[in-house]
Amino acid sequence: MTPETSPVREAGQDFIRDIVTEDIASGRHPAPVTRFPPEPNGYLHIGHAKSICLNFGIAQEFGGRCHLRFDDTNPAKEEQEYIDSIKADVNWLGFDWGEHLHHASDYFEQLYDWAEKLIRDGNAYVDDQSPDEMRAARGTLTEPGRNSPFRDRGVDENLDLFRRMRAGEFPNGARVLRARIDMASGNINLRDPVLYRILHAAHPRTGTAWSIYPSYDYAHGQSDAIEGITHSLCTLEFADHQPLYNWFLDNLPVPSHPRQFEFARLNITYTVLSKRVLTELVRGGHVAGWDDPRMPTIAGFRRRGVPPVAIRDFIKSVGVARANSVVDVSMLDAAIREILNKDAPRRMAVLRPLKLVIENYPEGPGEELDAINHPEDPSAGSRKIHFGREIFVERDDFMEDPPKKFYRLSPGKEVRLRYAYFVTCREVVKDAAGEVVELRCTYDPETRGGNTPPDGRKVQATLHWVSAAGSLPAEIRLYNPLFKSASPDTSNFAADLNPDSLEVLAGARIEAALADAKHGAAVQFERLGYFSPDDASTPDKLVFNRTVGLRDAFAKTMAGTKA
Ligand code: ATP
Ligand code: MG
Repeated sequence: MTPETSPVREAGQDFIRDIVTEDIASGRHPAPVTRFPPEPNGYLHIGHAKSICLNFGIAQEFGGRCHLRFDDTNPAKEEQEYIDSIKADVNWLGFDWGEHLHHASDYFEQLYDWAEKLIRDGNAYVDDQSPDEMRAARGTLTEPGRNSPFRDRGVDENLDLFRRMRAGEFPNGARVLRARIDMASGNINLRDPVLYRILHAAHPRTGTAWSIYPSYDYAHGQSDAIEGITHSLCTLEFADHQPLYNWFLDNLPVPSHPRQFEFARLNITYTVLSKRVLTELVRGGHVAGWDDPRMPTIAGFRRRGVPPVAIRDFIKSVGVARANSVVDVSMLDAAIREILNKDAPRRMAVLRPLKLVIENYPEGPGEELDAINHPEDPSAGSRKIHFGREIFVERDDFMEDPPKKFYRLSPGKEVRLRYAYFVTCREVVKDAAGEVVELRCTYDPETRGGNTPPDGRKVQATLHWVSAAGSLPAEIRLYNPLFKSASPDTSNFAADLNPDSLEVLAGARIEAALADAKHGAAVQFERLGYFSPDDASTPDKLVFNRTVGLRDAFAKTMAGTKA
């Protein structure tokens, strides 16, 4: 395509969408067919979300389709739990594979037949070397490999051995089937790669039917070809596998010849996106499970209360490029905050309560006051909140000996209680240990609703609060980054774990209406951040997770101050 005719790149368009656009324009493909090919050996993380948004997004935008294909070629590591979680997570992210749920295992018989064809054509052989011998003969980036002593076996012997491998006659690791390409190739992937290994293991779908399983490299491209994938999108580390991907397609009677394109994987500061490490975090009990809200998994984000659109927006803002880079985790938080600021209703909660008694407020049932649900969205309306003689304020909002710039509560100081009244601190009550346990205050009845009194008196601070009678106890969980360093050392990740990644506040008080907050619908606790009920929250024990703070408190957190 000449520069004059190449389509203008639209905003938000990337090099892969450019290729798809050109392929449609040139008539090469009427519509793209893509696939997301997870291996079910762990839960999906936000790196996978990038691949999901790209593959499903392209299918949607260009009127094509996207398959969900499980790359289930290694039953030693794969489990039904992972298969189920992956489907749920892709759906939750907002994508639908329709009829096109596939498995590499659907093609095991075809892949096997093609392997026999490779043998018959002199393109594959059974190697009896041990894994160590094979590794030693592979060579290095600068030295060629050495041919296997079994490389020139005759077709009949190869076929016989391969069939007996399939029949389960040999123990694990005794033999492999290898492609016969070039042990001196500059590309190590072409040095007679393994196509099949012996593995006596039950498979979630094929049970014990197979004693041999295909390698990723052998299964992947052929699965693409069988499904008629047009654009096989993968991350950069597969660029060196592309010649092998094409070698198989060129040497087998496949029904189509997909093309592979590579893009940069997503990396995020303070975050590990390696399934191996995430698995170890779970198995080692460093987190409460795959859906622990500190995990960068889709399940973790969901449990934390992050809406799927925030993840899609974040992925969109990162873009798709050919060069690797690391995205600042604050960009992810900003995307979450942007959605929640727009959508989350405002409520009041006190994380670390300090009792405040209003001495001149009448004893009795108290009163109902109006509180608005969203300052920027009048259609969200208002609600009634209870006010009474005893309320709770945030312990951090009081200081007995405040520094000059501290405008909140201190002895003699007047502040506004949001939606309620002006109150003045008259007395501080302490326990035997000298700890402040209660504030005695007075209020000005002429400031009802939090309004300025007739004398025009001003205050310098507005505090959130809940009334003792109109609030419920709750446990609140605050999350900080799981790792201390911006680029965690994945070889020794345990040493890099942030000991303050989870802070549990057992004695919080929340507005009574929050008892029926819906899971997955975050609310803003005024002045505190966005919070969402945990999966384990029940009416008897309310538990809320902090989804994200109000501002970027990240730098402060990392400097050792608890947010
Ligand atoms: P492994 O293969 O080591 O288990 P993986 O993260 O590659 O880990 P897969 O299940 O093979 O796991 O990944 C499915 C798809 O998601 C692949 O196409 C892969 O390239 C893509 N993917 C994985 N991690 C990222 C990432 N950080 N950014 C973008 N895409 C990713
Ligand atoms: Mg992979």
